[in-house]
Amino acid sequence: MTDVLIVGAGLSGLMAATQLQAAGQAVLVLDKGRGVGGRLATRRIGPGRADHGAQFFTVRDPQFAAYVAEWEAEGLVYVWSDGWSAEADGHPRYVVRNGMTALAKRLAQNLDVRTEVKVTAVSGWQGQTTAVSSGWQVVTENGRSYQSQALILTPPVPQSLALLDAGGVVLDAADRSTLEAIRYAPCLCGLFWVAGEATLPYPGAVQGDENDTLAWLADNRRKGISPEARLLTFHAGIPFSQRHYEDPSELVLPLLAQELAPYLAVDATIREAQLKRWRYARPQTLYSERCLPAAGLPRLVFAGDAFNGPRVEGAALSGLAAAAKLLNN
Ligand SMILES: Cc1cc2nc3c(=O)[nH]c(=O)nc-3n(C[C@H](O)[C@H](O)[C@H](O)COP(=O)(O)OP(=O)(O)OC[C@H]3O[C@@H](n4cnc5c(N)ncnc54)[C@H](O)[C@@H]3O)c2cc1C
Repeated sequence: MTDVLIVGAGLSGLMAATQLQAAGQAVLVLDKGRGVGGRLATRRIGPGRADHGAQFFTVRDPQFAAYVAEWEAEGLVYVWSDGWSAEADGHPRYVVRNGMTALAKRLAQNLDVRTEVKVTAVSGWQGQTTAVSSGWQVVTENGRSYQSQALILTPPVPQSLALLDAGGVVLDAADRSTLEAIRYAPCLCGLFWVAGEATLPYPGAVQGDENDTLAWLADNRRKGISPEARLLTFHAGIPFSQRHYEDPSELVLPLLAQELAPYLAVDATIREAQLKRWRYARPQTLYSERCLPAAGLPRLVFAGDAFNGPRVEGAALSGLAAAAKLLNN
């Protein structure tokens, strides 16, 4: 049995694990993904790389700023720009050397993180001998179970609720309705490997509108993570993503390519295109605190970017808050 089990090796789960392990707790992190990072995601296409989840991050909170300063000193992160036009707005946009996933990999380095482990149910667990030996149990798709004194759930909230339902855990009614109110918007992401020049404005990105087809476009080469190939990341806006979420790639990618065309040089061609679907891209409603300790269920904490998020920084701070909550109780 471990002290703390964390479901999810996205930024919130990894920050929580780092903090708890530093405080002497035995921590195990489980993630269903092939690698770590969750929505900190980088894909290789041909000789290039593209971030297809989070594109950059900003820093507002001093606690997060201290971590970012450390990562910057290590050379892990750097400032891409101070704004999305030639006119800087004074807020540095940080990116991760070699892509966003590299930050998650670095955080996971000294942790016990198991990937390709999909949790299917969470339940309370009571030992046979003493009342002290009780806690949480998670069951995984491959039939294994893990037990712990404490549990942090970091998947998007609807997925966390489904895990508790599957294990028959009954949440306090107020917690349940608070958590059920948290909604996420999807995002369809097109990744385009382009032969030739792209003509995106400084610093290699277009910030569109979430209500338009083009919500975001970035040139990963100009961002500095794909020197060998021009890979463009296209995030579709919310209405477009909702409307086409279930459509086949063959239908969606040409629609995105059409919007992309004005940003390509006349002789540029698309060598390869891939579609990535984010069902729970960004929370649209947030919980006002950085984490939610379940009422009446000891040592169960909900965390993630829906808790005072909704960004990279919010996810990091939520993980740290969940860890602090367990350490202080
Ligand atoms: C398209 C897109 C663009 C974005 N752009 C930006 C940006 O530019 N700047 C910014 O600051 N933020 C951005 N974000 C938001 C940012 O990526 C997130 O806020 C942050 O990464 C969330 O981290 P998290 O740990 O809360 O969740 P996640 O990263 O989603 O981590 C949750 C983890 O739980 C795992 N999991 C889920 N269910 C299970 C299960 N049953 N068993 C095991 N594991 C499970 C998942 O695999 C995942 O790894 C963007 C997000 C998206 C999708």
